[in-house]
Formats: sequence, structure tokens, C-alpha cells
Amino acid sequence: MTTGLTCTVNTCINHCDGYCSLHSINIGGHQAMMKDETFCRSFAQRPEGAQNSTNFCAANPHMSIKCSVEGCAYYKNGRCKAENVIVSGGSADAMQDTLCDTFTMR
Ligand code: SF4
Ligand code: SF4
Repeated sequence: MTTGLTCTVNTCINHCDGYCSLHSINIGGHQAMMKDETFCRSFAQRPEGAQNSTNFCAANPHMSIKCSVEGCAYYKNGRCKAENVIVSGGSADAMQDTLCDTFTMR
């Protein structure tokens, strides 16, 4: 299934005007009990001084999300079954600073 994905991590090289430009992302945090313990494994920091890619990126608002957060109510067989997911972490400079805002304890 595909999930609607919005993202606020504007320091990520894949960020595109409130969305992600990747075909698929991977959310980690195997033993997470709260959303702060989850993170976007697909995060890659935009090199310092690089332009925000908003003007020439291609947003991908729906995608298949791989996930290892087994304690989340939306987790099923290594995938996310939520209709919509928000990834946050405004000024993240490492993947651990990002999180899945949609995480809900099972
Ligand atoms: S943090 Fe994750 S969801 Fe957000 S733009 Fe980067 S790769 Fe995509
Ligand atoms: S909502 Fe839950 S299952 Fe979906 S990506 Fe976030 S942590 Fe993983």
C-alpha cells in the first residue's frame, strides 16, 4: 500500500517543499516506545551552502514506507499501513534528530 507522506526536515537533501522526493523511505527505531525514538533512515544532510532544492525537486506525496518500529499501531510486516505519515525534525543534522510524528503506541 502507499502512504501519504509530508516532511518538515528541510535540512535533508531529499526534502522538497514540504514533501520527500524519494520513491520510498525507511523509518527506524526498532525498540521505540515513543515518537522521539523513531527516525528516518533515509535522511541525508544537505551539504552546507547548498541551495534549498525546492525549485528543481520533484515531490513524491505518496509512497511505500518500510519501517522497523514494531511497537507502532501502524506497523505490519516491515511496512507502514497508515494512510498518512508526517516526518518531522526541522533543523536536523543527523538522522537521529528526525522522527515519525505519526507513531502511535500499539
Ligand atoms: S527526512 Fe526522510 S522523509 Fe524527510 S525528506 Fe529526508 S528522506 Fe525524505
Ligand atoms: S506511523 Fe508507525 S509504522 Fe508508520 S512509519 Fe511511523 S512508526 Fe512506522
